[in-house]
Amino acid sequence: MLEIKNLSKSYDGKNYACKDVSITINDGDIYGFIGPNGAGKSTTIKAVCGIHSFEGEVLFDGKSITNDMIEFKRNIAYIPDNPVLYEHLTGIEYVNFILNIYDVKEDMRDEIKRLAKMFSIEDRLEEPIKGYSHGMKQKISIIAALAHKPKLLILDEPFVGLDPKATFELKEELKNLCKDGSMVFFSSHVLDVVEKFCNKIAIIKHGLIVESGDTLEIKGEGSLEDKFMEIFDNE
Ligand code: ADP
Ligand code: MG
Repeated sequence: MLEIKNLSKSYDGKNYACKDVSITINDGDIYGFIGPNGAGKSTTIKAVCGIHSFEGEVLFDGKSITNDMIEFKRNIAYIPDNPVLYEHLTGIEYVNFILNIYDVKEDMRDEIKRLAKMFSIEDRLEEPIKGYSHGMKQKISIIAALAHKPKLLILDEPFVGLDPKATFELKEELKNLCKDGSMVFFSSHVLDVVEKFCNKIAIIKHGLIVESGDTLEIKGEGSLEDKFMEIFDNE
């Protein structure tokens, strides 16, 4: 369980990019985070991942993450909107490097092969990442994250740049991860996907959470797009 409590972040000490954000993610949740550009999604995500300092509290299974950031990071994977990878490494070297960091002792060759095949990148694993397209870089960071089965997977706009098959396969993998008790938290502008795929959502506007909870309750009778337009039409 992840409890984000009154999380606030200011970059300049004056204005807040996100303010008093409170979100609770339970084991098994696929949690979508939506809001327009500049609303504060990436800021919130980076604070939760320990990249930015923040005000407020984030509890992972009841324990404040700031008390033992390393232990928290052992349990999570974060895929930024623009993954920065060690480009001189080959795809397979990168994945193995990440698995080493996470201290994965098992032989993961079959699992890496399965994921690489699923994301149609298996014949490029031996090539340096610097020759990869944006989508391929995204795929390799997704494979590295999925292979160590994080308890919490945080993704910032994961579907941007992924082809339709990879989008489908990623959703299947995320569902399977959550069936085993993990949590997924991701930001997205693809409202159709969020509506169908997430059991919970939070909507952020100018750094403030305006709605959060069960997807079905939040969207009501109409679509999530209708709800979104209702909130942001006058922007
Ligand atoms: P979103 O991910 O929802 O598009 P962001 O969290 O990236 O929004 O941005 C929220 C606000 O914080 C914006 O006004 C943005 O300009 C500002 N911001 C984001 N990153 C930084 C940064 N590193 N330094 C200063 N301001 C930032
Ligand atoms: Mg963003």
